[in-house]
Amino acid sequence: MSTSSSADRSGRIAALNYAYADKPKVDQPRCNLCGSERFTVITQRDRYGFPAATVACMDCGLARMNPRMTSGAYAEFYQHVYRPLVSAYHGRTIDATSVQEEQWVYAEEMGDFYEPFLTPRNGQSFLDVGGSTGVVSLAFAKRFGLRPTVLDPAPDEIREADRYGIETVTALLEEWDSGDAQYDVVGMFQTIDHLLDVSASFEILRKVIKPDGLFLVDIVDFRHAYLKNGSVEQATKIDHPFSLTEDSAEAYLARAGFETLRKCYSKDHHLVCYACRPRAPQPDAMPAPESVRAFFREIRAVQSHGPQNVGARP
Ligand SMILES: [Zn+2]
Repeated sequence: MSTSSSADRSGRIAALNYAYADKPKVDQPRCNLCGSERFTVITQRDRYGFPAATVACMDCGLARMNPRMTSGAYAEFYQHVYRPLVSAYHGRTIDATSVQEEQWVYAEEMGDFYEPFLTPRNGQSFLDVGGSTGVVSLAFAKRFGLRPTVLDPAPDEIREADRYGIETVTALLEEWDSGDAQYDVVGMFQTIDHLLDVSASFEILRKVIKPDGLFLVDIVDFRHAYLKNGSVEQATKIDHPFSLTEDSAEAYLARAGFETLRKCYSKDHHLVCYACRPRAPQPDAMPAPESVRAFFREIRAVQSHGPQNVGARP
């Protein structure tokens, strides 16, 4: 990146006048994955330049923003700031229309990967958590005959999904009263990193999936982001309270009671996509200690030298 484009970007972000430092925050000393209170502060700014610290658990390696904004501050952020901020960062307008174009491409790639699991489920129910404007739901309904329900907290996005004639629920997953509803297929796409409580969310998802159901989820791989950018700061952003890796995501899945059947790195490499089925929860599942140590060594190597000097992990 040239200095001028970097300055342009900083200028565009500054022009939004978003006073992140003044927003109400909650301190969360306990690790959301393993409960440990031992953590290392690994960055003190995010990619936008906001003073948002990311910490990583010394015991399991889970990386998360701490302190992070309150749920009320996040609600305001998503309503007024998120899209303009992402547009300012990329230097192009990102709105409901452009997002839908990208989502069709994404839905096709996901459909290709999940095809062997979804083709036999023609006519089954599909809960699309954080389903946004309903593009993935519509694509999966057309391609695999699934009967989708979009769950999303954003009224503007739900309105778009309503236009497709999809069943919708306007709610935050964490506050959703699911009653005794259960679904054959539950998908959570491009959403997990935005959650405020991954552990509680997985518990809810495990309850609403049928015993012979299928769970589809993807993460933005934090390791890929910092290795590609050669910067840990550039790999964090306030819209991602959690920065997951394969290790932390898989420990979450095991704890919640999901067995990974298959996974896939996306074409552009930044996502890791999982197909899972319910199994007995393993409440003590943790990334291996040597893997956690390797993670911290890798973070330090990127911060010291850039990604080209990062050695092989065990
Ligand atoms: Zn932990």
